Amino acid sequence: MIHFVPPQRYDSMKATGKLPSPEGVAFSIIKLLQRDDFRVSDLVQLVQSDPAIAGRLLKFANAAAFGRTRPIVSLQRAIVALGAFRVRELVISLSVMHTHSSGQCSAFDYGAFWGHSLATAIACQELAQFAQISSEELFTIGLLARVGELAMASLYPEEYAVILLKAKEGGASLATLERDCLEMDHQQLGATMLAEWGLPDLLIQAAYHHEQPDLAGFRDGSRVQTLTHSLHFARALAEVCMAEEDARWSLLPGLLTRAARLGISGDALNDMADRTVRRWREWGAMLQVRTHEMPPFAEILAASPPSRRVSPATQEPDGGLSAPRLHVQLVGIPVAELPTLMQQIESLGHQPVLVDSHIDDLKQVLREPAQIVIADMAMPGLKPALFCRILRQTPAGKESYALLLASPGSEAHVLEAIDAGADDVLVKPVGIHTLRVRLNTATRMLLLREEIQRERRGIMRSTDEFAVTHRRLLRDALTDALTQLPNRRHGLDYLASEWTFAHSNGLPMACLLLDIDHFKRINDGYGHAAGDAVLRQLADLLKRASRVEDLVFRYGGEEFAAVLPNASVRAAAQIAERIRSLVEKYAFIWEQQAIPVTLSVGVANLSSGFKDSQALIEAADAALYEAKRSGRNRVVVAA
Ligand code: GH3
Ligand code: MG
Ligand code: MG
Repeated sequence: MIHFVPPQRYDSMKATGKLPSPEGVAFSIIKLLQRDDFRVSDLVQLVQSDPAIAGRLLKFANAAAFGRTRPIVSLQRAIVALGAFRVRELVISLSVMHTHSSGQCSAFDYGAFWGHSLATAIACQELAQFAQISSEELFTIGLLARVGELAMASLYPEEYAVILLKAKEGGASLATLERDCLEMDHQQLGATMLAEWGLPDLLIQAAYHHEQPDLAGFRDGSRVQTLTHSLHFARALAEVCMAEEDARWSLLPGLLTRAARLGISGDALNDMADRTVRRWREWGAMLQVRTHEMPPFAEILAASPPSRRVSPATQEPDGGLSAPRLHVQLVGIPVAELPTLMQQIESLGHQPVLVDSHIDDLKQVLREPAQIVIADMAMPGLKPALFCRILRQTPAGKESYALLLASPGSEAHVLEAIDAGADDVLVKPVGIHTLRVRLNTATRMLLLREEIQRERRGIMRSTDEFAVTHRRLLRDALTDALTQLPNRRHGLDYLASEWTFAHSNGLPMACLLLDIDHFKRINDGYGHAAGDAVLRQLADLLKRASRVEDLVFRYGGEEFAAVLPNASVRAAAQIAERIRSLVEKYAFIWEQQAIPVTLSVGVANLSSGFKDSQALIEAADAALYEAKRSGRNRVVVAA
């Protein structure tokens, strides 16, 4: 559900004149299309009055016209081809972009905002085939998905600068900070603006939920879900487009998982990303929006990770941020080889962690293993199989990247080590280039493992939520809403299984049918709500009056039933009589009035030789009928 900004507050924000809004032609077009009797010729005339917009629309119409042999040259044809409503959406987005390319908020990077939004818009268009939505609409929603942020920066430039700086520090999310400080967030504000501009609900929903699509609760496979995930993915691709070269690497695992969720395979992703970048650059030049040069996507994917650790930076004691690095633990490296190896590791930007060359207790050494462990198999007593077994015993060790070193001539050990679970084996001497390649691979694997774990945690969370919902649905399906007793379906199932058990084991069992006498009079005399209250109070009373092994359920209307396992006919008749007399004496209360209630009860038991549980309950029903016929407020046992 979308939380829109309350109308009063929105109106006062509009009154400041600072809220981004489509101006000039775009505004007139919105007004025109709100009329039922608008004519395309009026629309053409309006668009013509703004040559910049007219030119862009023509370009759009031509880009959308796949396979058309001749280009569209007339504006009229372009508008007809696009459709009036898409023209409106395109013009809105282009107009907002045009009039808000700079602003007052010092921490808001307007250029980066539009560069990112344009990349999102174009990546969205590339996904038209998945989302089954016209590519112009996808363009619009991609471009405007973050318009709430722009609006916040325009409305509250100073406060928003503080919020943005805080968000950059990490900790709380942008939306949380916004709500804390301004009592609304950019998603709410954005959705309210898009709704005011007349965008379709589907697009507004997607924009509102795209940052956390899994929390939206959309039906799997629905259009709105696909669209929301598409927008989520497009934004991740835009982030890669906008990122500095060093930062790109850490964005890739997230992008790849999102692509996979949309069913986009590696090759398709390469093509799509390259096309997106090409068109982004082209449109950026035309719309005067900041873009970057980018290498082919395949090259970005194949690139080495930045030599420095990519995971969150660590805090230095003096409070400054150090360059993060990977810890590389050295185990059993001969003293003579240590200095070179350590120096190589440091020159690659990582942190060697030294362990004595002589190892007495491998378990102790591997108690808290580093992210990468390099061990020399030449060490006396260091058997690859034993080493790997001990390493993989701890949770941290399971995640470590184990790189074993073999001496020349001991290549036979290589296979043994790999079989034992090492991640990689190198034959000495190890050159700096080989080491760099292997450490890059290790970094990449560690990052992917982290990403997989994050995903897994997310999946586990949703499975938990699913289990809770499922349990609730199950309980609801078996419970009567008014009385909270088991419902008829549940009760009859229980009766059938108890009947089978008692029947096959030669045990007694009985069943009661209890019906309120002249219940209609209660409804008529005190009202339906009073009748409901009596039903609820009677349900509680019946539960309290029955034994733990009995199951009392609502049979329907003002009739209840009880399954009494292991009860002889005498015991059952006694229980029935006890309940009858309890009810007769009980003070049922409705709005401070006491309502007299009596029950008629029919009793049937297994020994009467019925063929199934249905026959048992029919016999109880016949006995109940007899109790009614012979004057009510009594118990009758089936013959
Ligand atoms: P008898 O002594 O012969 O059983 O008479 P009765 O009035 O109790 O029986 P009858 O079957 O003629 O009417 C049952 C009434 O119970 C009719 C129906 O409107 C009412 N009823 C059924 N379910 C509910 C309910 O959930 N709430 C309320 N308030 N009334 C209900
Ligand atoms: Mg009845
Ligand atoms: Mg009745």
